[in-house]
Amino acid sequence: MVNRGCSFEMPDGLACRAPALRGKSVCYWHDPDKAEEAAESRRIGGLHRRKSKSVATIYDFSGLRTVESAQRLLETAAIETLALENSIARNRTLISAAAGAGKLIEAGDLDTRLTAVEAAIGSRANSDEDAAFPEEVGR
Ligand SMILES: [Zn+2]
Repeated sequence: MVNRGCSFEMPDGLACRAPALRGKSVCYWHDPDKAEEAAESRRIGGLHRRKSKSVATIYDFSGLRTVESAQRLLETAAIETLALENSIARNRTLISAAAGAGKLIEAGDLDTRLTAVEAAIGSRANSDEDAAFPEEVGR
């Protein structure tokens, strides 16, 4: 049997089209029998999002998409770990943080150098003094 998707009409007038529940014409979120359960799921989802935002703010965490933000997380973890009682696990964590920091420093350094090289090449690419075919410069 082909699942035609949820037939619930959304506020914009289009059908929801999320996969319909087995033997039904509506999805989990639009099934009146699941309304209470769905509402609780939405509430818990909202709580998780709010909690994530609060924790991220407290720890000045902005994600792991840049070397800088990864370094900030590593530093926070290292400081928190340093404050713990000495143990083999603590020392392993700190050694691991130091190794991770080395990789991040290297990645940051390479990125800085590459940016500088690209900037140098970019500014020279438009100069006619080193052009192999000066007549083509500026075309
Ligand atoms: Zn639906």
